[in-house]
Amino acid sequence: MMKIKELRRRSFLKKTMVGAAGMHLAARLVVSSAGLGSPGKPAIWGGQPVRTDKFPAWPVIQDNDETAWIQVLRAKGWFRMNGDYVKQFEKEFAQMMGAKDCLATANGTSALHASLNALGIGPGDEVIVPPYTFVATVNVVLLQYALPIFVDTDRETFQIDARKIEAAITERTRCIIPVHLGGNSADLDTILTLAKKHRLPVIEDACQAHLAEWRGKKLGTWGDAGCFSFQVSKNLCAGEGGAVISDNSSLMDRCFSFHSNGAHRNGSSLHYAGSGTNVRMTEFQGALLLQQMTRLEEQSRRREKNAAYLSEQLQQIPGIQPAKSYAGCTRNAYHLYMFRYDKNQFAGLSKDSFLAALRAEGIPCSSGYLPLNQEPFLRESLLSRSFLAVHPRDRVDRYFKDNSCPENDRLCQEAVWLFQTMLLGTRNDMDQIADAIRKLQHHANELAKGRV
Ligand SMILES: *Cc1c(COP(=O)(O)O)cnc(C)c1O
Repeated sequence: MMKIKELRRRSFLKKTMVGAAGMHLAARLVVSSAGLGSPGKPAIWGGQPVRTDKFPAWPVIQDNDETAWIQVLRAKGWFRMNGDYVKQFEKEFAQMMGAKDCLATANGTSALHASLNALGIGPGDEVIVPPYTFVATVNVVLLQYALPIFVDTDRETFQIDARKIEAAITERTRCIIPVHLGGNSADLDTILTLAKKHRLPVIEDACQAHLAEWRGKKLGTWGDAGCFSFQVSKNLCAGEGGAVISDNSSLMDRCFSFHSNGAHRNGSSLHYAGSGTNVRMTEFQGALLLQQMTRLEEQSRRREKNAAYLSEQLQQIPGIQPAKSYAGCTRNAYHLYMFRYDKNQFAGLSKDSFLAALRAEGIPCSSGYLPLNQEPFLRESLLSRSFLAVHPRDRVDRYFKDNSCPENDRLCQEAVWLFQTMLLGTRNDMDQIADAIRKLQHHANELAKGRV
């Protein structure tokens, strides 16, 4: 009985408030404090979840994707040298980004690896990286037997703290890899100024930042090279896939050679241009990406619109702080919707318990990255025989002494992620995310004590 009454009251409230034009926010506050926000038990304790619907599924598959895939299959030109899909994709992706040149690769990791290799980064060198990133950013540095030098994170934006980069530059520094994490932009003005001053190349890890912009120009086009991933979770995807974009044609020639066992890009010689590997993209990936690309702009707009609305909602909740953007970031790709959670505003409820309770309310979420600079595998790599051959033991010891990123440690404790697919939903979906968080805050005391 209670439940039916409650539902009637809710729908009455909704009906009466819906008519009030321009009062949307007020309506939400009333519904939230008197309705959705407070009633019932938290779903984690068997109460009614705020949401039972699924968020939009990913990846999106439509008729054009199927047709393209079958075409490649039947034409049998599965290898990029026997077909035109990968070539066409490279052309269109470069155009879309506003870059002169594009090389498609097997994945984002190999795009980064090829770029580092093309720049001649190798044993003994130091490469500046953020600690708040996917491990691939660091793995490619280690694959070249170079040292990843971690520069602490700006907790406000979740990006590398560009103000701290200069202090990390030494005579061995050979490259800076800013990551545009979550599709938000690193502070490129500061980074590019420093890079110029110290004559360091910049490789942008834009693996999460398709169509994002800094001062109206696409991320990935600001550095010497920009690297993208088309792994299945990314905003543009083909299961696996990657790309390097650049305006520097000799750099791109070297990337090409590296990615295809040292072959000359223009096929001018049967000799090899250098050593390399095989990280070529298949025609299947190229064909699929060409189709997926047709939806990217529209999807990105929807994410931006929903993210802006969600931020309006979440900013009003004490203890929830959405990631900020630098003034130069004119477009955010929102691969992730990131915010910081302050447990003090939730009666001391731990982040893990908050996330479990939020999932129970029907809101998928993640606690994000662990502190990468503290990963045990780093020590193992740097103390391996191959590394010790080029990085003397005392240097490695010093490395670990200097390797602390306290802001990043704190961010890892506070960070919460929602996923890009959730931002492809409706405004009502965004309301439910905010409602679920308000509901947990309302019940924070009991949740923190662990009893009803
Ligand atoms: C996904 C990702 C990569 C690696 O891309 P893959 O295609 O998975 O190899 C590198 N850097 C960042 C920041 C990423 O998110």
